[in-house]
Amino acid sequence: MFTGLAKCGCCGRHNLIAHHSTREEGQGRLVSAGTGKGRSNCGFAGAPLDLIAKSLFSFLADSELIRPLLTAKSSHPCKLEELQLKVSEAEKRAERIAELILGDDEAPKLLYDRLKLEEARGKQLRSEIDAESMRFKAEAPALETYEGLRETLANKSNHISHRPEMRRALAAFLEKIVLDPHGEDGVWCFTVHLKGACEAVKSFAKQISNAGFIALRLGDPARLSEVAVAA
Ligand SMILES: [Zn+2]
Repeated sequence: MFTGLAKCGCCGRHNLIAHHSTREEGQGRLVSAGTGKGRSNCGFAGAPLDLIAKSLFSFLADSELIRPLLTAKSSHPCKLEELQLKVSEAEKRAERIAELILGDDEAPKLLYDRLKLEEARGKQLRSEIDAESMRFKAEAPALETYEGLRETLANKSNHISHRPEMRRALAAFLEKIVLDPHGEDGVWCFTVHLKGACEAVKSFAKQISNAGFIALRLGDPARLSEVAVAA
């Protein structure tokens, strides 16, 4: 499920791979790929695959948390707004100059030159806007993609037969998660990097009973306790 998407937060170099013990059925662990061949000291214990998966899915299903991350991507929207403002200013100036020229039978050449200048500036800015919005669209996983993933998460994340579909949906959306396979006192902390989002978000998972787990996110203490209570 996480193949190629989970990085080891211990060494920072290797992928995490799912290891299924032959003794404990279904108790898969996420172990650093560096461990097996002695290429790193990340340990064999690993993180509980099922817990991490459930915690990640609950995180991704939280649209109140995810949507702002996707729409507030880096500084691009700000740059786009700034460009649009500049264009409308250039257009206004050009309009005023054009009015001056129309109202003056012998308008000075200077005004014509200014008009040309403002028109050229507007044209340049509009092409910058086009380029910027293209880039923005190309980088952003559209919100529809996210809605598709949420649906898949809601209906299909529990069935093994839907694994390939889940895996595709995740890969379209998730750049990577970084997780230290050691955990700390049974708490696993991982950062979630969404494609196109400028911020990575820290998430915690802790198993509290056979069925229950706590998934916490850093950043908003109010939300933190809210989620903890809900879990
Ligand atoms: Zn490692």
